[in-house]
Amino acid sequence: MINIKNLTKKFQNGDQEIIALNNVTFFVPKGQFLTVSGRSGSGKSTLLYQLGLLDIPTNGEVYIDGIDYVQVSENDRTIARLNDLGYIFQDYAILPTLTALENTMLPLLMQGYDKKEAENKAKKALERLSIIDRMNNLPSQLSGGQQQRVAIARAIAHDPKIIFADEPTANLDSETSEQVINAFIELNREGQTIIMVTHEPEYAKLADRTIFMTDGSITSDILNK
Ligand code: ADP
Ligand code: MG
Repeated sequence: MINIKNLTKKFQNGDQEIIALNNVTFFVPKGQFLTVSGRSGSGKSTLLYQLGLLDIPTNGEVYIDGIDYVQVSENDRTIARLNDLGYIFQDYAILPTLTALENTMLPLLMQGYDKKEAENKAKKALERLSIIDRMNNLPSQLSGGQQQRVAIARAIAHDPKIIFADEPTANLDSETSEQVINAFIELNREGQTIIMVTHEPEYAKLADRTIFMTDGSITSDILNK
């Protein structure tokens, strides 16, 4: 479903050129739980951003279900991000003045669902993440792990084709990290395609497959099961 060909991303830093991704090619089948590991600065986030259509590569092709999204208009990329993809970041990125339910409903309302439909879908997602009992709480009234579960509920509420997570447990203690990882495993069991960047080797091993990056290249690609 995701097919990446010869992906290169360069950044210009003053007169220095940084090759953050160096001619990366791989394929992610539907339903796979893929983790991306590697040292800080190896290009993990840059890879995720190109796959998630959050950035445009210097060279290469990013096919999602047969469409090369490098070649389409910014408007088409925006529509794909909103309708087909879901994102989870290390800092939760949920809005502090909205409740858990309102945060989860927001992207659905942006997609054009009416309020009742958005509320139903959001509640279903909060239920799947076992955080429905906190739906009327503000983020400040939730623990880090609970906030991240709200962020995951928001990311999956519209049934995205793929969810992208960039070090989602980096700010969490080991117990809440496990809750978050278990939530991903559960979603994957139900068929969700997931691409997750993680520093933690023990979480990487729980996925179907682990890609290891070094200096912008894939240096190993291991099937765990
Ligand atoms: P990782 O997520 O593995 O820590 P990144 O993908 O964030 O690594 O970064 C890979 C390399 O690209 C690093 O050398 C980083 O400094 C550089 N880089 C990332 N984003 C930018 C940017 N917007 N401008 C300049 N350099 C960047
Ligand atoms: Mg990173």
